[in-house]
Amino acid sequence: MEPKIIPRKEHCISRKQISPNALYILYHLHRRGFIAYLVGGCVRDILLGRKSKDFDIATNATPGQIKRLFRNCRLVGRRFRLAHIHFKDEIIEVSTFRSTINPHQTTIGEISDNNKEKRYHIKDENGMILRDNLFGTPEEDALSRDFTINALAYNIADFSIVDYCDGIIDLNQRLIRTIRDPYTRFKEDPVRMLRAIRFSASHNFVIENIVWEAICNLSYTISNVSPARLYEEIQKLFLFGFSKKVFHLFIKSGLLSALFPDILRWISLSRKNMSLIYNNLDYLDKLYKDGKVLSIELFLTFFLGPFIEADALVKHKNNVPYKQALENVCKDTLKNICKTVTLPKRISNTVHNILSLQQSFRTVPHRHPHSIIDKPGFPDAILYLRLKTETKNGKNDHLKWWDQFLKQKRMPPA
Ligand code: ATP
Ligand code: MG
Repeated sequence: MEPKIIPRKEHCISRKQISPNALYILYHLHRRGFIAYLVGGCVRDILLGRKSKDFDIATNATPGQIKRLFRNCRLVGRRFRLAHIHFKDEIIEVSTFRSTINPHQTTIGEISDNNKEKRYHIKDENGMILRDNLFGTPEEDALSRDFTINALAYNIADFSIVDYCDGIIDLNQRLIRTIRDPYTRFKEDPVRMLRAIRFSASHNFVIENIVWEAICNLSYTISNVSPARLYEEIQKLFLFGFSKKVFHLFIKSGLLSALFPDILRWISLSRKNMSLIYNNLDYLDKLYKDGKVLSIELFLTFFLGPFIEADALVKHKNNVPYKQALENVCKDTLKNICKTVTLPKRISNTVHNILSLQQSFRTVPHRHPHSIIDKPGFPDAILYLRLKTETKNGKNDHLKWWDQFLKQKRMPPA
């Protein structure tokens, strides 16, 4: 299939928008006679007038050839063999063109890892790709990507855009469309469902009807993904200023039920519970937009706090001391989440700290405030107190006291 070529004059990508390190690699590969494309999210984002945070390169040079061309190169990855080229403050990922799935070359189960550059492609019995190292052509590489808007390439040879999947049309229509059948693509890699939701929420794109239908029908398969990978994805979904939209799409698609069943149960109990979480995530998004770097602990507190605190209160009413009830519910809730999403122990401990600090904040003037401000999660705990105060539209003498204390200490208010 011939791609659509959009010549240099007809698109807005200029070399000034590309990282100088990425340009250096592209030119070096090109000079040595290799095809060198800038690919993926950076092409999409530059075309949309957004700043790109990472620059990925695809080439027909094999990982071994790339390694020989760049001294500062390390080969990484099991599932996809990739080259990482290290610079002082940036790592650029260079991958060899990948092939699409060829059912005749699909093997079920594991195979030996002796020859890293061997052509292979392994799926499990559910159709999920376990390992994928089949080198291909530029066309195959484009077709192996998840969405049409992510399959555009910028060719350093003539500065044109190479479009095999009508990505430009979809970009202009702000449409998220899978490359090939969405059911097959989501079965191969259920994380693609989360990626569709992420791009829809972060870029304000519409998910094509059939793609949305596939997500709704396959949402339960997200639990086949490794908890460690889901932990990575959850951070990308909730810490960058569009968590409220993601939450909405999670509820509608069934992904909430697959990933956070406790929360779904709790918000289904009352409208008030539901709007509390929406409100908290809205607040979280505003903090991000005001320039705050959000921590996963803060997200988890805003997201799970209302549920954990309400449940702890129920237990407290049944005569369990509040401190202990909070600890138990917190532990159980986070342990349940860990069945699907890995949460490092340090993170779970800090979330518990943040919630239990809410109790300590109530005693003002506090006799040992210094012992509190050193606890992990203290700034996030103050933020949670602020959120709760502002949600209730009320004044809070405890918050006022702590703000005053921090001011005297010349510590920035959280
Ligand atoms: P971001 O702005 O978050 O970096 P991105 O689209 O660049 O978005 P990356 O994870 O950096 O996302 O991946 C780079 C490119 O690799 C994507 O644009 C897409 O073409 C391809 N890709 C990434 N993950 C998948 C996947 N699970 N399945 C198919 N292609 C993928
Ligand atoms: Mg990227």
